[in-house]
Amino acid sequence: MNKVKDDIYWMHKAIEQAQKAQEIGEIPVGAVLVVDNKIIAKGWNHSIIDNDPTAHAEIMALRKGGKHLQNYRLLDATLYITLEPCVMCAGAIVHSRVKRVVYGASDLKTGAAGSFIDILQHPGMNHKVEITSGVLGEECSQLLSQFFKMRRAEKKQLKKQKNSPVLINTGSVIKE
Ligand SMILES: [Zn+2]
Repeated sequence: MNKVKDDIYWMHKAIEQAQKAQEIGEIPVGAVLVVDNKIIAKGWNHSIIDNDPTAHAEIMALRKGGKHLQNYRLLDATLYITLEPCVMCAGAIVHSRVKRVVYGASDLKTGAAGSFIDILQHPGMNHKVEITSGVLGEECSQLLSQFFKMRRAEKKQLKKQKNSPVLINTGSVIKE
C-alpha cells in the first residue's frame, strides 16, 4: 500500500472509533495510533459520560499507546484523528513526540493544527509534528454535523414536550 492508501485505511479505523463515541451519545471523534503498520492504541471521545474534560479521543489513544510501548515517548507513531486536535490534545501530541498527525475534518473554531492556531508546528516548539489534513474529511465532518443535527432535534422535541399541557393526576383510581 502507498502512503495515501494507508492514510485512508487507517482513517476508516478512526471513524469506527468515532462511531463508538456516537453510540453512547458523545461527540463522534475517534483516533487510532499506528506504529509499524499496526494499530497500537485506539481512542474515542468520552468526556460527557466520564465527567472528564480531558477524555478526548487523542488523549485516550496516547495514554494507551504509552502503556503499550512502555514509553512516554511515541517517537515513530502516527496518530489518525477524525477531527483536527484541540489545543489540549495538540499539546499532549507534542509532549508525546508523535511523528505525524493525520486528521479528517478541520475545526475552524478550536483546531490547533493550523485552523485556529498551529501548536503542532509552532516555530517555538522543540518538536514539530508532520501534518496531513483532509483525509476522508467529508465523511468525518458529516458524522459530526449529523450528530449535532440530531442533538438539536432532540432538544427541540424536549422543549415541545415541556410546553405541551400537563395532565393533572386527580387521584382517581381506574379499576381494570
Ligand atoms: Zn482534544
